[in-house]
Amino acid sequence: MISRPLSKNEINWINQILKQESSLSDSEKIFYQKQINNLKVTEEWDCCEPPCGSVNFNNYQNRSVGFADGEIAYRGKKVMATLFCDPDTNKLTQLEIITD
Ligand SMILES: [Zn+2]
Repeated sequence: MISRPLSKNEINWINQILKQESSLSDSEKIFYQKQINNLKVTEEWDCCEPPCGSVNFNNYQNRSVGFADGEIAYRGKKVMATLFCDPDTNKLTQLEIITD
């Protein structure tokens, strides 16, 4: 288990996804954006080679639902990414980057 601050890229990606998700109201977007400063990355997924950049955050406790999707620039390519939150607390839990 690791515990590191989010990279600039990860922060940008979260903001880009939130901006694009039309099902969220402005106040909901702000609710999630406010969490970013307190987030830590606790796990980097090892599901693909080269790594897809997907990560778990410190709030992740095996309960996670995808609630926002958007296109991001990852390693020079446009790819889709999904943000997850805990369905009980609405805290951000995971960022999944879909590279294949
Ligand atoms: Zn992967």
